Amino acid sequence: MKSKYDKSRRKFLHDIGLAGLSIPFISAVGNCNEETKKQKTMSAKNGKLGIALVGLGGYAGGQLAPALLQTEHCYLAGIVTGTPSKAVTWKEKYNIPDKNIYSYDNYDSIKDNPDIDIIYVVLPNNMHAEYTIRGFEAGKHVICEKPMAITVEDCDKMLAASKKANKLLSIGYRLHFEPYNLEMVRLGTQKMYGNLKKISGGFGFRAGPSQWRLTQKYAGGGPLMDVGIYVIQGMCYTSGMEPIAVTAVEGVKTDLEKFKEVEQSLTWQFEFPGGLIGEGITSYADNMNFLKAEADKGTFELTSAYNYNGQKGNTPEGPMNFSTVNQQARQMDAFALSVKNNKKSIVPGEMGKRDVKYLQAVYEAMRTGKRIEIK
Ligand code: NAD
Repeated sequence: MKSKYDKSRRKFLHDIGLAGLSIPFISAVGNCNEETKKQKTMSAKNGKLGIALVGLGGYAGGQLAPALLQTEHCYLAGIVTGTPSKAVTWKEKYNIPDKNIYSYDNYDSIKDNPDIDIIYVVLPNNMHAEYTIRGFEAGKHVICEKPMAITVEDCDKMLAASKKANKLLSIGYRLHFEPYNLEMVRLGTQKMYGNLKKISGGFGFRAGPSQWRLTQKYAGGGPLMDVGIYVIQGMCYTSGMEPIAVTAVEGVKTDLEKFKEVEQSLTWQFEFPGGLIGEGITSYADNMNFLKAEADKGTFELTSAYNYNGQKGNTPEGPMNFSTVNQQARQMDAFALSVKNNKKSIVPGEMGKRDVKYLQAVYEAMRTGKRIEIK
Protein backbone atom coordinates (compact mmCIF):
# COMPACT_ATOMS: atom_id res chain seq x y z
CA MET A 1 0.00 0.00 0.00
CA LYS A 2 1.23 3.47 -0.84
CA SER A 3 1.74 5.43 2.32
CA LYS A 4 1.21 9.15 2.69
CA TYR A 5 4.48 9.07 4.62
CA ASP A 6 6.47 7.97 1.55
CA LYS A 7 9.23 9.89 -0.22
CA SER A 8 9.71 13.63 -0.04
CA ARG A 9 6.14 14.38 1.01
CA ARG A 10 6.94 12.49 4.13
CA LYS A 11 9.41 15.00 5.51
CA PHE A 12 7.23 17.89 4.43
CA LEU A 13 4.18 16.50 6.19
CA HIS A 14 6.19 15.66 9.24
CA ASP A 15 7.73 19.09 9.46
CA ILE A 16 4.35 20.72 9.13
CA GLY A 17 3.00 18.38 11.75
CA LEU A 18 5.71 19.25 14.20
CA ALA A 19 5.98 22.95 13.57
CA GLY A 20 2.41 23.91 12.93
CA LEU A 21 0.71 22.77 16.08
CA SER A 22 0.27 24.72 19.24
CA ILE A 23 -0.23 21.92 21.77
CA PRO A 24 2.61 21.98 24.29
CA PHE A 25 3.82 18.46 23.55
CA ILE A 26 4.72 19.38 20.02
CA SER A 27 5.33 23.10 20.06
CA ALA A 28 8.41 22.68 22.19
CA VAL A 29 10.02 20.71 19.37
CA GLY A 30 9.26 23.53 16.97
CA ASN A 31 10.68 26.01 19.49
CA CYS A 32 13.67 23.77 19.89
CA ASN A 33 14.57 24.14 16.21
CA GLU A 34 14.19 27.89 16.36
CA GLU A 35 16.16 28.12 19.56
CA THR A 36 18.81 25.86 18.11
CA LYS A 37 19.66 28.52 15.52
CA LYS A 38 19.68 31.26 18.16
CA GLN A 39 21.82 29.36 20.59
CA LYS A 40 24.40 28.37 18.00
CA THR A 41 25.75 31.88 18.23
CA MET A 42 26.45 31.62 21.97
CA SER A 43 30.05 31.14 22.91
CA ALA A 44 31.09 30.16 26.49
CA LYS A 45 31.97 26.44 26.45
CA ASN A 46 30.62 26.72 22.92
CA GLY A 47 27.40 27.78 24.58
CA LYS A 48 27.00 24.36 26.16
CA LEU A 49 25.77 23.70 29.68
CA GLY A 50 27.61 21.12 31.79
CA ILE A 51 25.73 17.99 32.86
CA ALA A 52 26.83 15.68 35.68
CA LEU A 53 25.46 12.15 35.58
CA VAL A 54 24.69 10.71 39.02
CA GLY A 55 24.84 6.88 38.93
CA LEU A 56 26.88 5.26 36.18
CA GLY A 57 24.77 2.17 35.49
CA GLY A 58 23.32 0.69 32.33
CA TYR A 59 21.30 3.68 31.16
CA ALA A 60 23.89 6.34 31.98
CA GLY A 61 26.69 4.38 30.33
CA GLY A 62 24.78 2.81 27.46
CA GLN A 63 22.61 5.74 26.38
CA LEU A 64 23.10 9.08 28.14
CA ALA A 65 26.88 9.45 27.95
CA PRO A 66 27.02 8.53 24.23
CA ALA A 67 24.09 10.89 23.57
CA LEU A 68 25.99 13.71 25.30
CA LEU A 69 28.59 13.43 22.55
CA GLN A 70 25.86 14.40 20.09
CA THR A 71 24.19 17.23 22.00
CA GLU A 72 24.47 20.82 20.85
CA HIS A 73 23.49 22.65 24.02
CA CYS A 74 24.99 20.53 26.79
CA TYR A 75 27.89 18.15 27.34
CA LEU A 76 29.11 15.60 29.85
CA ALA A 77 31.01 17.77 32.33
CA GLY A 78 31.04 15.56 35.42
CA ILE A 79 30.14 12.28 37.08
CA VAL A 80 29.04 11.08 40.51
CA THR A 81 29.85 7.46 41.28
CA GLY A 82 30.46 5.18 44.24
CA THR A 83 32.77 2.93 42.22
CA PRO A 84 36.36 4.23 41.90
CA SER A 85 37.14 1.95 38.94
CA LYS A 86 34.24 3.50 36.98
CA ALA A 87 35.65 6.96 37.71
CA VAL A 88 38.91 5.93 36.03
CA THR A 89 37.22 4.42 32.95
CA TRP A 90 34.83 7.33 32.47
CA LYS A 91 37.54 9.93 33.04
CA GLU A 92 39.54 8.46 30.17
CA LYS A 93 36.65 7.71 27.85
CA TYR A 94 34.93 11.08 28.18
CA ASN A 95 37.86 13.31 29.07
CA ILE A 96 36.43 14.36 32.44
CA PRO A 97 38.75 16.41 34.67
CA ASP A 98 39.41 15.11 38.21
CA LYS A 99 37.80 18.20 39.74
CA ASN A 100 34.48 17.17 38.14
CA ILE A 101 34.46 13.62 39.51
CA TYR A 102 32.46 13.10 42.69
CA SER A 103 31.55 10.25 45.01
CA TYR A 104 28.25 9.98 46.86
CA ASP A 105 30.09 11.23 49.95
CA ASN A 106 31.26 14.55 48.52
CA TYR A 107 28.29 14.97 46.13
CA ASP A 108 27.03 18.09 47.92
CA SER A 109 30.26 19.96 47.25
CA ILE A 110 29.23 20.02 43.59
CA LYS A 111 27.59 23.31 44.56
CA ASP A 112 31.01 24.98 44.32
CA ASN A 113 31.65 23.72 40.78
CA PRO A 114 30.67 26.22 38.09
CA ASP A 115 31.28 23.62 35.35
CA ILE A 116 28.16 21.76 36.43
CA ASP A 117 24.87 23.42 35.50
CA ILE A 118 22.60 20.38 35.45
CA ILE A 119 22.48 17.22 37.58
CA TYR A 120 21.04 14.12 35.89
CA VAL A 121 19.87 11.53 38.44
CA VAL A 122 20.09 8.01 36.98
CA LEU A 123 19.92 5.98 40.20
CA PRO A 124 17.50 3.26 41.37
CA ASN A 125 13.98 4.68 41.76
CA ASN A 126 13.98 5.05 45.55
CA MET A 127 17.09 7.27 45.40
CA HIS A 128 15.64 9.76 42.90
CA ALA A 129 14.07 12.02 45.51
CA GLU A 130 17.10 12.34 47.76
CA TYR A 131 19.60 13.03 44.98
CA THR A 132 17.28 15.42 43.19
CA ILE A 133 16.66 17.42 46.37
CA ARG A 134 20.39 17.52 47.17
CA GLY A 135 21.01 18.63 43.59
CA PHE A 136 18.66 21.58 44.07
CA GLU A 137 20.27 22.36 47.44
CA ALA A 138 23.56 22.55 45.55
CA GLY A 139 21.98 25.20 43.33
CA LYS A 140 21.78 23.08 40.16
CA HIS A 141 19.00 22.35 37.70
CA VAL A 142 17.94 18.69 37.69
CA ILE A 143 16.82 16.03 35.25
CA CYS A 144 15.50 13.01 37.14
CA GLU A 145 14.89 9.64 35.53
CA LYS A 146 11.46 8.02 35.46
CA PRO A 147 9.60 7.22 37.58
CA MET A 148 10.12 10.56 39.30
CA ALA A 149 9.93 8.89 42.74
CA ILE A 150 8.22 5.97 44.40
CA THR A 151 5.67 8.05 46.32
CA VAL A 152 3.65 11.17 45.56
CA GLU A 153 4.90 12.65 48.84
CA ASP A 154 8.48 12.41 47.58
CA CYS A 155 7.43 14.11 44.33
CA ASP A 156 5.99 16.97 46.37
CA LYS A 157 9.26 17.34 48.26
CA MET A 158 11.20 17.40 44.99
CA LEU A 159 8.91 20.05 43.53
CA ALA A 160 9.22 22.14 46.69
CA ALA A 161 13.03 21.88 46.52
CA SER A 162 12.97 22.99 42.88
CA LYS A 163 10.83 25.97 43.77
CA LYS A 164 12.93 26.93 46.77
CA ALA A 165 16.14 26.80 44.73
CA ASN A 166 14.45 28.52 41.80
CA LYS A 167 15.90 25.83 39.51
CA LEU A 168 14.17 23.75 36.85
CA LEU A 169 13.18 20.10 37.14
CA SER A 170 12.60 17.77 34.20
CA ILE A 171 11.85 14.04 33.99
CA GLY A 172 13.68 11.69 31.57
CA TYR A 173 10.67 11.22 29.28
CA ARG A 174 12.64 10.78 26.07
CA LEU A 175 9.68 9.73 23.88
CA HIS A 176 8.38 13.30 23.88
CA PHE A 177 11.26 13.93 21.48
CA GLU A 178 10.75 10.89 19.22
CA PRO A 179 9.04 11.38 15.82
CA TYR A 180 6.81 8.27 15.77
CA ASN A 181 5.44 9.00 19.22
CA LEU A 182 5.01 12.65 18.25
CA GLU A 183 3.01 11.48 15.27
CA MET A 184 0.73 9.47 17.57
CA VAL A 185 0.20 12.71 19.51
CA ARG A 186 -0.63 14.63 16.35
CA LEU A 187 -3.03 12.00 15.02
CA GLY A 188 -4.73 11.57 18.39
CA THR A 189 -4.99 15.10 19.71
CA GLN A 190 -5.79 16.64 16.32
CA LYS A 191 -8.48 13.94 15.84
CA MET A 192 -7.08 13.16 12.38
CA TYR A 193 -9.18 9.96 12.29
CA GLY A 194 -12.03 11.24 14.44
CA ASN A 195 -12.68 10.65 18.11
CA LEU A 196 -10.74 7.95 19.91
CA LYS A 197 -12.80 4.95 21.00
CA LYS A 198 -10.14 2.88 22.67
CA ILE A 199 -6.46 3.18 23.36
CA SER A 200 -4.28 0.29 24.40
CA GLY A 201 -0.63 -0.31 25.09
CA GLY A 202 1.82 -2.84 26.43
CA PHE A 203 5.46 -2.79 27.41
CA GLY A 204 7.24 -5.79 28.85
CA PHE A 205 10.52 -7.66 28.71
CA ARG A 206 12.12 -10.63 30.37
CA ALA A 207 13.87 -9.15 33.40
CA GLY A 208 17.22 -10.64 34.36
CA PRO A 209 17.91 -12.22 37.75
CA SER A 210 17.99 -10.35 41.04
CA GLN A 211 18.62 -6.63 40.84
CA TRP A 212 17.12 -3.53 42.41
CA ARG A 213 14.25 -3.69 39.88
CA LEU A 214 12.87 -6.80 41.60
CA THR A 215 13.08 -5.28 45.09
CA GLN A 216 10.09 -3.33 46.38
CA LYS A 217 12.18 -1.01 48.55
CA TYR A 218 14.35 0.13 45.65
CA ALA A 219 11.93 0.02 42.72
CA GLY A 220 8.62 0.84 44.43
CA GLY A 221 6.97 -1.95 42.44
CA GLY A 222 7.59 -4.18 39.44
CA PRO A 223 7.28 -3.69 35.68
CA LEU A 224 4.56 -1.07 36.10
CA MET A 225 7.07 1.31 37.73
CA ASP A 226 9.77 0.51 35.21
CA VAL A 227 8.09 0.14 31.81
CA GLY A 228 4.32 0.26 32.37
CA ILE A 229 4.85 3.97 32.99
CA TYR A 230 5.60 4.35 29.26
CA VAL A 231 2.20 2.92 28.42
CA ILE A 232 0.51 5.34 30.80
CA GLN A 233 2.44 8.17 29.19
CA GLY A 234 1.54 6.93 25.69
CA MET A 235 -2.17 6.80 26.50
CA CYS A 236 -2.11 10.31 27.95
CA TYR A 237 -0.12 12.01 25.22
CA THR A 238 -1.91 10.27 22.37
CA SER A 239 -5.35 11.11 23.73
CA GLY A 240 -4.39 14.46 25.24
CA MET A 241 -6.48 13.33 28.22
CA GLU A 242 -5.95 12.30 31.80
CA PRO A 243 -7.57 9.20 33.32
CA ILE A 244 -10.33 9.62 35.90
CA ALA A 245 -10.59 6.07 37.25
CA VAL A 246 -8.82 2.71 37.07
CA THR A 247 -9.32 -1.00 37.68
CA ALA A 248 -6.40 -3.44 37.65
CA VAL A 249 -5.59 -7.13 37.95
CA GLU A 250 -2.25 -8.66 38.85
CA GLY A 251 -1.05 -11.40 36.49
CA VAL A 252 -0.29 -14.93 37.65
CA LYS A 253 3.23 -15.43 39.00
CA THR A 254 4.98 -18.28 37.26
CA ASP A 255 8.24 -17.62 39.12
CA LEU A 256 7.41 -17.10 42.78
CA GLU A 257 11.01 -16.82 43.89
CA LYS A 258 11.97 -14.15 41.38
CA PHE A 259 8.79 -12.17 41.88
CA LYS A 260 8.43 -12.58 45.63
CA GLU A 261 8.40 -8.79 46.18
CA VAL A 262 6.93 -7.25 43.05
CA GLU A 263 4.31 -8.11 40.45
CA GLN A 264 5.42 -10.27 37.52
CA SER A 265 2.81 -8.72 35.27
CA LEU A 266 -0.22 -6.49 35.51
CA THR A 267 -3.16 -5.37 33.38
CA TRP A 268 -5.17 -2.24 34.02
CA GLN A 269 -8.03 -0.32 32.52
CA PHE A 270 -8.26 3.47 32.64
CA GLU A 271 -11.46 5.43 32.16
CA PHE A 272 -10.88 8.75 30.46
CA PRO A 273 -13.39 11.62 30.28
CA GLY A 274 -16.05 11.12 27.60
CA GLY A 275 -15.96 7.32 27.81
CA LEU A 276 -12.58 6.60 26.22
CA ILE A 277 -11.13 3.36 27.59
CA GLY A 278 -7.41 2.73 28.01
CA GLU A 279 -6.21 -0.85 28.36
CA GLY A 280 -2.66 -1.39 29.56
CA ILE A 281 -0.42 -4.37 30.17
CA THR A 282 3.10 -4.64 31.52
CA SER A 283 5.33 -7.58 32.31
CA TYR A 284 8.78 -8.70 33.46
CA ALA A 285 8.21 -12.12 31.90
CA ASP A 286 7.03 -11.41 28.35
CA ASN A 287 8.20 -9.20 25.53
CA MET A 288 5.68 -6.65 24.27
CA ASN A 289 5.98 -3.14 22.95
CA PHE A 290 2.94 -1.43 21.40
CA LEU A 291 0.64 1.58 21.52
CA LYS A 292 -2.65 1.38 19.62
CA ALA A 293 -5.35 4.01 19.13
CA GLU A 294 -8.72 3.02 17.69
CA ALA A 295 -10.61 6.00 16.34
CA ASP A 296 -13.91 6.49 14.49
CA LYS A 297 -12.22 6.44 11.07
CA GLY A 298 -9.51 3.89 11.65
CA THR A 299 -6.68 2.63 13.79
CA PHE A 300 -3.23 4.12 14.14
CA GLU A 301 -0.57 2.40 16.14
CA LEU A 302 3.04 1.82 16.96
CA THR A 303 3.92 -1.87 16.88
CA SER A 304 7.32 -1.05 18.30
CA ALA A 305 6.73 1.99 20.43
CA TYR A 306 9.04 2.61 23.36
CA ASN A 307 12.59 1.49 22.57
CA TYR A 308 15.59 3.73 22.02
CA ASN A 309 15.16 3.28 18.27
CA GLY A 310 13.44 1.00 15.74
CA GLN A 311 9.92 2.44 16.14
CA LYS A 312 7.36 1.12 13.66
CA GLY A 313 3.99 2.74 13.02
CA ASN A 314 0.86 2.18 10.94
CA THR A 315 -2.04 4.43 10.04
CA PRO A 316 -5.13 4.03 7.83
CA GLU A 317 -3.05 5.86 5.19
CA GLY A 318 -0.08 3.53 5.32
CA PRO A 319 3.00 2.94 7.43
CA MET A 320 4.71 5.86 9.18
CA ASN A 321 8.17 6.61 7.95
CA PHE A 322 10.41 8.95 9.92
CA SER A 323 14.13 9.17 10.40
CA THR A 324 15.64 7.78 13.56
CA VAL A 325 16.73 10.42 16.04
CA ASN A 326 18.82 10.23 19.17
CA GLN A 327 16.00 10.63 21.67
CA GLN A 328 18.24 11.24 24.65
CA ALA A 329 20.29 13.90 22.85
CA ARG A 330 17.10 15.72 21.88
CA GLN A 331 15.68 15.40 25.38
CA MET A 332 18.81 16.79 27.06
CA ASP A 333 19.23 19.54 24.48
CA ALA A 334 15.62 20.59 25.01
CA PHE A 335 16.22 20.83 28.74
CA ALA A 336 19.47 22.75 28.25
CA LEU A 337 17.48 25.23 26.15
CA SER A 338 14.82 25.40 28.87
CA VAL A 339 17.54 26.34 31.34
CA LYS A 340 19.16 28.87 29.02
CA ASN A 341 15.82 30.51 28.33
CA ASN A 342 14.45 30.03 31.86
CA LYS A 343 11.48 28.24 30.40
CA LYS A 344 9.69 25.30 31.97
CA SER A 345 10.55 21.87 30.54
CA ILE A 346 7.85 20.25 28.38
CA VAL A 347 8.34 17.18 30.59
CA PRO A 348 8.37 18.91 33.97
CA GLY A 349 8.33 17.58 37.51
CA GLU A 350 4.58 18.14 37.67
CA MET A 351 4.15 15.58 34.88
CA GLY A 352 6.38 13.16 36.76
CA LYS A 353 4.25 13.60 39.89
CA ARG A 354 1.05 13.15 37.89
CA ASP A 355 2.32 9.81 36.61
CA VAL A 356 3.41 8.62 40.05
CA LYS A 357 -0.15 9.38 41.17
CA TYR A 358 -1.47 7.18 38.33
CA LEU A 359 1.00 4.40 39.16
CA GLN A 360 -0.15 4.46 42.79
CA ALA A 361 -3.79 4.38 41.70
CA VAL A 362 -3.14 1.33 39.49
CA TYR A 363 -1.50 -0.47 42.42
CA GLU A 364 -4.33 0.47 44.76
CA ALA A 365 -6.84 -0.90 42.23
CA MET A 366 -4.75 -4.07 41.90
CA ARG A 367 -4.49 -4.59 45.67
CA THR A 368 -8.11 -3.83 46.52
CA GLY A 369 -9.82 -5.21 43.41
CA LYS A 370 -11.87 -2.01 43.40
CA ARG A 371 -12.44 0.77 40.88
CA ILE A 372 -10.26 3.62 42.09
CA GLU A 373 -11.15 7.17 41.21
CA ILE A 374 -8.20 9.35 40.32
CA LYS A 375 -8.39 12.88 41.67
P1 NAD B 1 21.41 0.18 36.73
O1 NAD B 1 21.18 -0.84 37.79
O2 NAD B 1 22.08 -0.24 35.48
O3 NAD B 1 22.23 1.41 37.32
C1 NAD B 1 21.97 1.94 38.59
C2 NAD B 1 23.20 2.68 39.08
O4 NAD B 1 22.97 3.15 40.39
C3 NAD B 1 24.46 1.79 39.13
O5 NAD B 1 25.55 2.50 38.63
C4 NAD B 1 24.64 1.55 40.62
O6 NAD B 1 26.01 1.36 40.98
C5 NAD B 1 24.10 2.85 41.19
N1 NAD B 1 23.74 2.75 42.60
C6 NAD B 1 24.09 3.63 43.54
N2 NAD B 1 23.63 3.26 44.72
C7 NAD B 1 22.97 2.11 44.55
C8 NAD B 1 22.25 1.24 45.41
N3 NAD B 1 22.14 1.50 46.73
N4 NAD B 1 21.72 0.15 44.88
C9 NAD B 1 21.79 -0.12 43.56
N5 NAD B 1 22.45 0.67 42.68
C10 NAD B 1 23.03 1.77 43.19
O7 NAD B 1 20.00 0.83 36.41
P2 NAD B 1 19.58 1.66 35.11
O8 NAD B 1 18.95 0.75 34.15
O9 NAD B 1 20.70 2.50 34.67
O10 NAD B 1 18.40 2.55 35.73
C11 NAD B 1 18.67 3.70 36.51
C12 NAD B 1 17.45 4.63 36.45
O11 NAD B 1 17.26 5.03 35.10
C13 NAD B 1 16.14 3.99 36.88
O12 NAD B 1 15.37 4.92 37.58
C14 NAD B 1 15.44 3.63 35.58
O13 NAD B 1 14.04 3.66 35.68
C15 NAD B 1 15.95 4.71 34.66
N6 NAD B 1 16.01 4.27 33.25
C16 NAD B 1 15.44 5.03 32.32
C17 NAD B 1 15.48 4.65 30.99
C18 NAD B 1 14.85 5.51 29.95
O14 NAD B 1 14.75 5.08 28.81
N7 NAD B 1 14.45 6.73 30.26
C19 NAD B 1 16.11 3.48 30.64
C20 NAD B 1 16.73 2.72 31.62
C21 NAD B 1 16.67 3.13 32.94
